[in-house]
Amino acid sequence: MPLALYDTWSRTLRAFTPIQADRVGLYCCGPTVYDHAHIGNLRTYVFEDVLRRVLVLNGYTVRHVVNITDVGHLVSDADEGEDKMEKGSRRTGESAWAIAERYTAAFMRDWQALNLLEPAVWCRATDHIDEQIDFIAELERNGYTYRTADGIYFDTSQQDDYGNLARLDAAGLQAGKRVALGEKQHATDFALWKFSPPDTKRQMEWDSPWGRGFPGWHIECSAMSAKYLGSWFDIHCGGEDHIAVHHSNEIAQTQARYGTRLANFWMHGHFLTLDAGKMSKSGGDFVRLQTLIERGIDPLAYRYLCLGAHYRSTLRFNPEALDAAQSALDRLRRTYVQWPEGGTPDLSLVARFKAEVDQDLNLPRALAVLWDVVRSDLPAATRRATVDRFDAVLGLRLADWQEDAVTVPADIALLAEAREKARALKQWSEADRLREVLLAADWLVEDSASGQVLRPLDTAK
Ligand code: AMP
Ligand code: ZN
Repeated sequence: MPLALYDTWSRTLRAFTPIQADRVGLYCCGPTVYDHAHIGNLRTYVFEDVLRRVLVLNGYTVRHVVNITDVGHLVSDADEGEDKMEKGSRRTGESAWAIAERYTAAFMRDWQALNLLEPAVWCRATDHIDEQIDFIAELERNGYTYRTADGIYFDTSQQDDYGNLARLDAAGLQAGKRVALGEKQHATDFALWKFSPPDTKRQMEWDSPWGRGFPGWHIECSAMSAKYLGSWFDIHCGGEDHIAVHHSNEIAQTQARYGTRLANFWMHGHFLTLDAGKMSKSGGDFVRLQTLIERGIDPLAYRYLCLGAHYRSTLRFNPEALDAAQSALDRLRRTYVQWPEGGTPDLSLVARFKAEVDQDLNLPRALAVLWDVVRSDLPAATRRATVDRFDAVLGLRLADWQEDAVTVPADIALLAEAREKARALKQWSEADRLREVLLAADWLVEDSASGQVLRPLDTAK
């Protein structure tokens, strides 16, 4: 069965084939680095990482590009209010540049802690000002722009299909006039270049053919994706909040310059919410990965939690679910670590797992296959080799995990395996006898839904 992915553009599940044989271009909208990432943002990057790993599982070479928004993202998506970076600067007293650097570094730490694969390209908006100016100049030549007192704007009324990605009813938006227009000609028009305010000195500003200022938020993604992946590439991702404004505007810009809608597939991760409501950076009340770590949660347990919910469903975050994810991961690790290396994978199970992830990244069902393998009566070495194949997609780093300084001596491991076999064959009295033998050697065996877990007696709780 071929890989099928849900495409927001067509609102259908489509068989995936790359534009160029074997090579996939993947662009993911990255962080706005005026504050820490919250675990909602990170959920989206976990989804994108899993997508990339599934593409690799299907034999493709993936060129993954992630941008870093370090200028131009205004407090309101309607191009009003302050630049988030300059606002962050006022909040902390640091320069906008220092803030960008600090939160970019913090973001990279989160990235690594979650075992997200390194992109081929990280691109900063402020490193690509010339590309953005060139892009806007092209749009101007093609007649898509107009000038207001505060900037150069994109005229969305020139595109009949503007907002198709979001199924936006542009006409309805105009008629309703629900959005304060200011000098904008249409509610959906957006800034390409904003002039520096005459009365205040901005920290981040550049000269341009239109005057000193800074780029609008959307132009960076059109300019940098074209630079690194071309104007027509395979998959563009982001969180669901980007559909209505940011991605609709990226498409409008790229279409006006190159005649393409950027990407063949548009994929969106749904939100993580707190029980209290939506989690947002600007709301101030958000949970960071570091917050979880301080509560004794392993970042990979957070990753496991994300895998347990389909990326197209809302994930309601609560501490109990996170604790359950941590326990499940602990159980998995303790079981895995006892399996010997050197086996060969069970290919029918690998195929079952692949069939699940190929169906629009159905990770909850793929995890069910994982637990079936854990609980199966296959030889332990086969289980390990099979689960290693799964972990190339899950990214839980099972093979790297070590229980704190606990190593199981070979004779104990043999006894434990014999007991597990006896259990599988329903030879209960033999299983009990072996449990006693292990106990006499100070090793406790516990039976759990996922199989038996072995612990030295002094650390067993
Ligand atoms: P930002 O740093 O705000 O530009 O967002 C970075 C990424 O996180 C984008 O792809 C957003 O769509 C996504 N995102 C924002 N909030 C959430 C959330 N609560 N749950 C999942 N993804 C989110
Ligand atoms: Zn973007």
